[in-house]
Amino acid sequence: MLEILHRIIQEVNTAPDLNAALAVIVKEVKQAVKADVCSVYLTDYENRRHVLAATHGLRKEAVGKVSLPLHRGLVGLVCERAEPVSVDDAPSHPRYLFVTETGEVLYHGFLGVPVIQNRKVLGVLVVRQRKPRQFDDNEITFVFTLAAQLAGAITHAQASGELSRDLNLTADTPARFLRGRPSSSGVAIGSVVVTYRAADLEAVPDRRAEDAEAEIEQFRAAVAGVEESLRSLKTRIGKVLPVEEQALFDALLLMLGSDSLVSQTIGRIHHGEWVQTALRNTIEEHALVFDKMDDVYLRERASDIRDLGRRILMHLQTDTPRSVNYPDQTILVGEDVGAVELMEVPRERLVGIISAAGSGASHVAILARAMGVPAVMGVADLPVSRMEGREVIVDGYHGRVYVSPTPSVLSEYKRLEAEDRALFLELEKLKGEPSETTDGVQVPLYLNTGLVPDTGTLGTGESSGVGLYRTELPFMVRDRFPGEESQIVNYRLVLEAFAPRPVTLRTLDIGGDKSLPYFPMKESNPFLGWRGIRVSLDHPEIFLTQIRAMLRAAVGLYNMQIMLPMVTSVSEVDELMLLIQRAHDELEEEGYPVAMPRIGVMVEVPAAAFQIDALARRVDFLSVGSNDLTQYLLAVDRNNPRVAELYSELHPAVLKTLVQIVEGAKRYGCPVSVCGEMAGHPPATVLLLGMGVDSLSMSAGSLLRVKWVIRSFSRSHARQLLQAALRMEDVQQVRRLMEGALEDVGLGGLVRAGS
Ligand code: PEP
Ligand code: MG
Repeated sequence: MLEILHRIIQEVNTAPDLNAALAVIVKEVKQAVKADVCSVYLTDYENRRHVLAATHGLRKEAVGKVSLPLHRGLVGLVCERAEPVSVDDAPSHPRYLFVTETGEVLYHGFLGVPVIQNRKVLGVLVVRQRKPRQFDDNEITFVFTLAAQLAGAITHAQASGELSRDLNLTADTPARFLRGRPSSSGVAIGSVVVTYRAADLEAVPDRRAEDAEAEIEQFRAAVAGVEESLRSLKTRIGKVLPVEEQALFDALLLMLGSDSLVSQTIGRIHHGEWVQTALRNTIEEHALVFDKMDDVYLRERASDIRDLGRRILMHLQTDTPRSVNYPDQTILVGEDVGAVELMEVPRERLVGIISAAGSGASHVAILARAMGVPAVMGVADLPVSRMEGREVIVDGYHGRVYVSPTPSVLSEYKRLEAEDRALFLELEKLKGEPSETTDGVQVPLYLNTGLVPDTGTLGTGESSGVGLYRTELPFMVRDRFPGEESQIVNYRLVLEAFAPRPVTLRTLDIGGDKSLPYFPMKESNPFLGWRGIRVSLDHPEIFLTQIRAMLRAAVGLYNMQIMLPMVTSVSEVDELMLLIQRAHDELEEEGYPVAMPRIGVMVEVPAAAFQIDALARRVDFLSVGSNDLTQYLLAVDRNNPRVAELYSELHPAVLKTLVQIVEGAKRYGCPVSVCGEMAGHPPATVLLLGMGVDSLSMSAGSLLRVKWVIRSFSRSHARQLLQAALRMEDVQQVRRLMEGALEDVGLGGLVRAGS
């Protein structure tokens, strides 16, 4: 049963559309459990009915035409209970409903299983038997597992409009958008450009061939290239591997030379598919044949074929470097959009970002906010490969994505976009105004950055300095560790751009979701692994090079501070401070007029929060990294869209921890700021103001919004709100309290689309 299940799941996942996926399910389930009928009903809440969407065993003509009332019959019962219902003699059940239009004879055995996504029933998978039949546990779990596979396909179809077109389900149901995490506020309307990882067949988007003959040439050259490299690999490996292991190379070469692989791909290009799309489809078609085989050995050949496909793709991609035409209003879409891909899009054309993976706390989201580009992350049901060139709306306030929106949705969003622009102009008026509460408390606002801001951009003029300079980005976009001299150039630029205002350079914080292509780290739990100063302590040579570069870059400017990330224990701080002192002394001996900088630590691990006194005694300043602190306190991976709903800096446990940090810092007169995204999130900003943090550091895109918040509240009002929030037990209550407070002072537009 397990093997059959595996095979069906493969087929469903690779089906080109929902109808094909449903056809696979009803046919295979009927056969596997030896039933007389298998059907799928899709639930249409708007019209209060379940529509027959596919069947094997009932009249095919009934599909799309026959429907059952939402709350009647056994199908209605499955939907209400949201759990499987198995009845051995259906006609004697009080909820039984006899339907004639489907060509039903009297069926006795009944098994109905709900298809559920995000706690909502999307449809019901039904298995029927003429004779009375009690389905056993194995059969029920089998059907149940397959029903779960259908949920994603149904959500895709809902979003793309396929469902309303093919099954006549209501077109404008609220599910016509895809849900993700609101990650950078704002509204964007534009055309999709799909970005994808190199040498990843699945990630290749659907595109049309531009010059079929040239693409066929490229394809032939790529195949020849792979053939040559396989042959030389085989010769090399032949010296060390036994003959039977070499057989794999023969098999790969044989497949490569097979006429069908080459001719089918070329045929597809002739039919208008882009070379990479054609290769992807041909490889997948071949692999599926093996996937379906019951023999385990033969099934494994599917992965050989995919491996071959990846090799050809790699050649295609390196021989023909990606040249993308970015439209004026580009919405960048990807399975897992990375920082580097973001940088590839000309800034003036990028209007929105949608990523299937990640969440609001991912680093790409942070960059998006810094650039003021609306973003929705963690859109789990995003049909990435089918999105190229489509018109989409990104609603970064609510985390919604509309694919090929209807005219009415489009005009509504155009209105919201216009209101957003008006809000932006309103904010512009705050330029140059002090960041001061209504009762005269100054709250300096600093900038988070990882790039050297162009002089004259918003952040440079408006901020009191840089509260967090993430040094990873220059490390990430190279093919080796940058040396001392090249790091100096980088740091000097940012130090000079802000001098005499302070600039806080954070030492390298790699690990977690930030890896360096040339420094592989394979860990099953990277956020709990080798990260930040843990790497620095194990590789003092990397740390010392960076510190030397920082100290030399600051010569004569006196505005540089150093900050250590991911501190868990005081001994780490003691050791690193000694290393910083050593770098300073050595440079002095070498004749550089370096100055000892102020040194601070990030409080972003719960252990550091609970040792705040010991840390405050040792350092010159503290800065709360609320992004990580929240993830570690709530045990919610900041990048995982499945649990993104659980990630909130307004959680009472996060607020209580923050209060403890601020009180500890104050006991020792140690300045404390917040540099996590929380600082730029208006509902949270007010609470931080109430706690008495000394300053806030945020993305450039949040600066004026936060200034508006600060200028609209008094510290005493913020304190009262904090006291009320601390009495609350649930994050939703806190959110409502703070959104209400923002509405009350006329700032509702900062937390929702439209002002
Ligand atoms: C944080 O964790 O809040 C932080 C500012 O650091 P990063 O987002 O770079 O991990
Ligand atoms: Mg962090």
